[in-house]
Amino acid sequence: LGTAENILPLNELGGLPTRNLKEAKFEAASNISGEKLAEGYLGRRLACSHCPVGCIHIAALREPYEDELFFYKTSMISYDYEPIYALGSMLGISDAEGLLKLIDQIERIGLDSMSTGVILAWATEAQEKGLISEKETDGLKFIWGNYSSFIKAVQFIFKQPNQFYKDLARGVEYAAQQYGGEDFALSFGGNEMAGYHTGPAAHIGLLIGARHSHLDNGGYSIDQKILSKEKIIPEKLAKELLTEERWRQILSGLVVCFFARGIYTPEICSEALYSAGYDVAKEDLLNIGEEIHREKYRFKMQEGFSLDNYRLPKRIFETPSLVGKIDKAFVDKLVRCVKDKIFK
Ligand code: SF4
Repeated sequence: LGTAENILPLNELGGLPTRNLKEAKFEAASNISGEKLAEGYLGRRLACSHCPVGCIHIAALREPYEDELFFYKTSMISYDYEPIYALGSMLGISDAEGLLKLIDQIERIGLDSMSTGVILAWATEAQEKGLISEKETDGLKFIWGNYSSFIKAVQFIFKQPNQFYKDLARGVEYAAQQYGGEDFALSFGGNEMAGYHTGPAAHIGLLIGARHSHLDNGGYSIDQKILSKEKIIPEKLAKELLTEERWRQILSGLVVCFFARGIYTPEICSEALYSAGYDVAKEDLLNIGEEIHREKYRFKMQEGFSLDNYRLPKRIFETPSLVGKIDKAFVDKLVRCVKDKIFK
């Protein structure tokens, strides 16, 4: 099923952001699940060079031409957990074919799926709340689940026919500064949120990640493995996030796929390097990872990033996550701990 296999379990656990994270469970998740897409649309699977897993899934969407009877076109559309979340549950879309058409439109134009989905989710709620009207949207009425208007909006974000779409194209943080609705503008350090409302580690992991990706430290995984079982203090959670991110510097340096991170432990990496003629103890690997991470952070700070003036959207504290309601005081302390530990 590829990464799309996560849709149903995350939904079941209450960690699947839905309708701009007004909820964390989508009642129609089974319609856009990995199982549903594989059964109805999977055209082929692909793998990176030499990988036996082949996690890349490509749907084949067959559509009739509007003006010619018995003529069809088949579009090959790649899908993953993240586009399904951002353009599916986040927009309330329960029609698998509509979801694939929206993903296809975004891929053809070359926009980022996650950013676009989060921006459209904010715009839908902003229109619901009257912060924007059809004057701004150029006549479009955004309704949860109505993929046709979202497909048109994607074209407008690309073509930018008016100031509103120019503003949307600059990201949800900027759009909310212009029109209001910052409380539900789901951005972390200027980057639109990833598909996990699993707990504090997911959101703060994205905020503090050296390259601003949810894959930097896999906070969503820490929420599920640790915080779903026990309460821990912010210092310990900061250590977990940083330990994971520092080790991932080594994995990416060795060009190890993060999906294989459970196999390539420090011990295995050290042994594998030894067999290739490099004698590097696992402790040395860990130290190198820490140094790479620190250097990346030095560069980020030199370019203006700071952990002193971050903004967290209120919405993440309102909607209960997989591990319950997220506590703002805990999160603020967590960020302070991370900051202290990076340069300790
Ligand atoms: S290397 Fe990783 S991303 Fe590529 S097919 Fe294998 S598991 Fe998927």
